[in-house]
Order: sequence, then structure tokens, then C-alpha cells
Amino acid sequence: MDKLNAKKIRADFPILKQKINGEQLIYLDSAATSQMPVSVEEKIRRFNETSRANVHRGVHTLGVKATKLYEKSRQKVADFIGASSAKEVIFTSGCTDSLNLVAASFGEQNIQAGDEIVVSIMEHHSNLLPWQQLAKRKKAQLKFIEISKDGRLDLNGLKNKISSKTKLVALTHVSNVLGTINPIKEVIALAHEKGAIALIDGAQAVGHFPVNVTDLGADFYAFSGHKMFAPTGIGVLYGKRELLDKMLPYRLGGEMIANVTRDGATWAEVPQKFEAGTPNISGAIGLAAAIDYLNSIDLQLVKEHETELTAYVLEKLSKISGLTIYGPKESYERTGVISFNLKGIHPHDLATALDLDGIEVRAGHHCAQPLMESLETESTVRASLSIYNNKNDIDKLTSSLQEAKEFFSEFR
Ligand code: PLP
Repeated sequence: MDKLNAKKIRADFPILKQKINGEQLIYLDSAATSQMPVSVEEKIRRFNETSRANVHRGVHTLGVKATKLYEKSRQKVADFIGASSAKEVIFTSGCTDSLNLVAASFGEQNIQAGDEIVVSIMEHHSNLLPWQQLAKRKKAQLKFIEISKDGRLDLNGLKNKISSKTKLVALTHVSNVLGTINPIKEVIALAHEKGAIALIDGAQAVGHFPVNVTDLGADFYAFSGHKMFAPTGIGVLYGKRELLDKMLPYRLGGEMIANVTRDGATWAEVPQKFEAGTPNISGAIGLAAAIDYLNSIDLQLVKEHETELTAYVLEKLSKISGLTIYGPKESYERTGVISFNLKGIHPHDLATALDLDGIEVRAGHHCAQPLMESLETESTVRASLSIYNNKNDIDKLTSSLQEAKEFFSEFR
């Protein structure tokens, strides 16, 4: 079996060479934001040095060049996620923006009093709050799919939750706390059986394993560039053309119209209808470069590397007494997002102790407070993996956790 060229990959991310608090940096917070390889930075720099201009406006040479690059990036995203047309790819400022777009446009138009929206208890607030507030406004009902003790979706419960009243099922592909990979193809099929629309939050999925929105049957699929080696401030909403065509624009302004008079306006076709104002042009070009980077590695290898490393983390952490790991115990059912708590030590204290050793992890509720409540905790520590992590990083994490445990035990 082929393996990732780990040495070369680490060299692609110069940030990893630095020291933090006098220790070699170990970056274990890629679920929040991944690092960016030099090839992406280089592509953006070249765009700014040779082709920077606004898109879809000027007839001048630079404007045409910039528009071509921007639209080529859209096609690259479409190919990467298996969309049948680039017109189904809308550039947004990120996953949160994509999800809010669907709520403000599709949701406002289609959810009525008495309708039901189904989400899971493991949603990030970005895929919960837009639906919670929409349901309140529309007097619709918000229903939650619960999880089992080991952090998997309760599929039996799910079958009862989705009914003929359900208009929308909004579900995360991968939990940003538990790492659980949800069986979204089955859930989407169930939603469709009942006549509901399925929206998938792919923020923690895209870039970690191959995603094909057409094969999955997703009606909408949202994700962010900065979690998959692209810059911040760029994201994607994929939507089926027939749905997008019927939806009203979410923001109004330049470049999203067909015609404007004193009395009214008509809208441009998708995707421009949803891209009012100057878009994040260099961000879109950076996202395309990140896709080139991922394709040059092969997503299947990325998945294998992260699964192997996740198994290693689970094995090492399970040996620390007093440490609780949340989520599935089998590495193939999850990605490299590993949340845990160490008995008697607040997650923020633990994350600070790890930071002193140069290890960057996240601590908190991870924008998933209803999930925290269901896990009967307020917060966790979260280590999240990417292609540039290796077993040495995990060994250091483990020994640093052991040391922190001993240090804090002296105060009890
Ligand atoms: N959904 C999930 C599952 C996430 O993990 C995140 C970010 O952590 C988001 C949505 C929101 O992404 P962004 O902040 O890039 O809009």
C-alpha cells in the first residue's frame, strides 16, 4: 500500500518548523483551522502580482484574466466534490455563511407553520442556530436526532423523527467534537423518501476523504476552505440546480442582477444570483490551489493516514487512567477529531499546560453546547489531526498529558 510522503508534506508547511514556548510546535488544531501549504500561498501571490482585478465587470485584459481564474476555480471545486455543473457551486465566506444562505433563502421561502426541521444533537452551532431561529419565526418544530453512548447517530430514533411533516434534514457529515462519520447517504435517502430536503454540513469532511455530492444525493452541501488548506474567508455552498433556481437571493447588490429599474429588479442566474458584491477572488483561487495540493497527494491516502493515526491516538490515550475519550472507539468510523477529558483537570488548564510544551489543542464547548449537555460535560479538550501530523506528535501529546496529570495531582 502506498503511504503519504510525510517528510515532504511537513516541508510544505513552513509554520511547523517554529518553536512555541521554546518547544517544537505540534499543531493539533486542524479541525479549527488547518495550516496552509506554500503552493497555495504561491498561487495567491502570483494572482496578486499578475492578474489582480475585479471579476465579471471589466472588459480589460486583467479583468478577463481574473474572471477566467475565478471561474476555473469554481469548476475545480465542482469536479472535486462531484457536482454535475459549476453553476451548482456558490462561493461564500465560509461554511457558516453557506448554511445561513440556505436558511435565509430556502428556509424563509419553504418552511411554514407546523412543518418540521430535523437536526442532530451533534450539530455545530452554525448548523443549529439558523434552523432554531427559523423554526421560532415560522412556528415550525425543530427535532433532534440523539446519539448513542459511543457517539453514533441513533438510527432507529432517526427513522421516527423524519416524517411527512419534515421539510428539511440538516445534518453534519462529521462531528467536530466526536469525529463520528455519519451515514449521510442513508439519512439523505430517508429524507427523500419522506419528501424532505437534505442539507449536509461538510466542514469536517471535505479534504479528509473523498466526497461526491451527486453520489450522496445531497440537496445542499456546505464547507469552508480554511479547514482544508485554503485561506480563511472562502467557503462553498453546493446546491442542486433546480433548488437554487427557485431560491431568492440572500444578499442584494452588485453583480447579482439581470436588470434594475427605478421600480424593481430581476436576478442573475445562479451562481451569480447568490454572490452579491465583490467576491473573495484570491480566496477562491487559493481554494482551487488547495484542491490541487490535495489531489497531488490523493485523498484516499489522506484518509488512510488519518485513520491510522487516529487508531494510534485512541490506543495511546486509552492507556492514561482517568482520561475519557468521547466518540466511537473504532478509528474507521471516525476522523482524527479526538475529544477527551482528564478527571479533575479543567480542559482550559490542560490545554494551557499542553501549550507550554508547544502542543496546540482546542479546549471549550467547540460551538456545540447541546452536544456537551448530552455528553454531561461543559467542555472538552480536542486534538485534531491532519496530513502533517505523525506518531511522534502523538507520543509528545501523550507524555505531556501524563506530566500535566502528575503536576495537577499535587494540588488535589
Ligand atoms: N460546521 C462544523 C462541523 C464545523 O466544525 C465548523 C467550524 O468549526 C463550522 C460548521 C463553521 O465553519 P466556519 O467557522 O468556517 O464558518
